[in-house]
Amino acid sequence: MDKIRMTTPLVEMDGDEMTRILWKMIKDELLLPFIDLKTEYYDLGLEYRDQTNDQVTIDSALATKKYGVAVKCATITPNAARMTEYNLKEMWKSPNGTIRAILDGTVFRAPIVVKGIEPTVRTWKKPITIARHAYGDVYKATEMKIPGAGKAELVYTNEAGEEVRELIHQFDGPGIIQGQHNVCASIESFAKACFNYALDTKQDLWFATKDTISKKYDHTFKDIFQEIFDAEYKEEFDAAGIEYFYTLIDDAVARVIRSEGGYIWACKNYDGDVMSDMVATAFGSLAMMTSVLVAPDGTYEYEAAHGTVQRHYYKHLKGEETSTNSVATIFAWTGALRKRGELDQIPELMTFADKLEKATIDTIEGGTMTKDLALITTLKDVTVANSEEFIKAVRKTLEAML
Ligand code: NAP
Ligand code: MG
Repeated sequence: MDKIRMTTPLVEMDGDEMTRILWKMIKDELLLPFIDLKTEYYDLGLEYRDQTNDQVTIDSALATKKYGVAVKCATITPNAARMTEYNLKEMWKSPNGTIRAILDGTVFRAPIVVKGIEPTVRTWKKPITIARHAYGDVYKATEMKIPGAGKAELVYTNEAGEEVRELIHQFDGPGIIQGQHNVCASIESFAKACFNYALDTKQDLWFATKDTISKKYDHTFKDIFQEIFDAEYKEEFDAAGIEYFYTLIDDAVARVIRSEGGYIWACKNYDGDVMSDMVATAFGSLAMMTSVLVAPDGTYEYEAAHGTVQRHYYKHLKGEETSTNSVATIFAWTGALRKRGELDQIPELMTFADKLEKATIDTIEGGTMTKDLALITTLKDVTVANSEEFIKAVRKTLEAML
């Protein structure tokens, strides 16, 4: 069989620990035998980040802007323990944070649904994608403890030095206050990323805030979404047969639980933080979540939602067997390859991505899975595969399909 040819390289961001081990296995077993894989390789493993003073992370993000599609392995975000473990020059920032700051994107997370791993919510039949705004609100807030009686105000001073004041509260005794902000440019790019992703995946888009209570703050989010939708997306949505739908956050939560899934739920920063953990857990496992960063200029970065699975890596280093789930990392590759195929008009590459995803799902549904899934599956008589056996089983399913 001829290998599938690529025209533009994928930006490949290698990572750390157990996921770095899986990364190589996936390339060797599932990609290189079938694709004439073209990548521009960036080693985001912590050692090389340290050697390059983290320049490699910045370079990889700039390359993503240049080529348009990246695939990223999970990486260590250093903390005090990692400083000693890797003898680091500095406590380098989270690579995801650095890349997100350069690409200015929105993160979309969706569960990978397989038979045998049943959602806790019985009505959920299709994935629910959470789109989380990753800027501002309570994450960039200024807080103050009020020691006793006194007046607290919001003050805005424009460049001409003129002030606008609003009373927050006339305190009679001790209390607390908090000042939050967001910027319209960020809300606009969040809205566009959501509309583009809905069109891309042909799913309805839901958005919810507490605009009845927050008549200026949350209402601005609602207004910006509606204005952009009416001006730039309504016709395309109609043509695609999908819907944009705004409701109150409490109503959205109730509807999500009653729904059968199959839509994108756009969330403000805090709502997205909280709700994505709930949705991921209710769908079964973080190792069964896809994650993609979509930038407003149409740049995509695909990754797994979980970390580097440190505990398994230490077992691996001791020569012990591991049973680490590679599904989310496989889907990061298929997501990136499919997008590359779409942008470069290489239908074989898109079909290959579809088939590899199907082979992965079929393998699990056929009863071969890693330990994390074996513990929660409703399937009977399953085979628990180690890390390598699972990837080899997917290869076998894939070869039978091709
Ligand atoms: P983690 O790597 O997500 O793993 C936490 C636990 O979840 C594991 O010990 C394992 O449970 C289970 N798990 C996660 N992924 C799994 C998989 N693919 N297969 C099977 N089990 C899986 O989180 P962490 O241990 O808190 O973080 C480790 C490192 O990852 C940290 O240095 C952190 O900075 C980094 N991190 C990176 C990213 C990213 O790059 N996107 C995201 C989060 C964290 P059991 O041990 O019970 O089997
Ligand atoms: Mg959270």
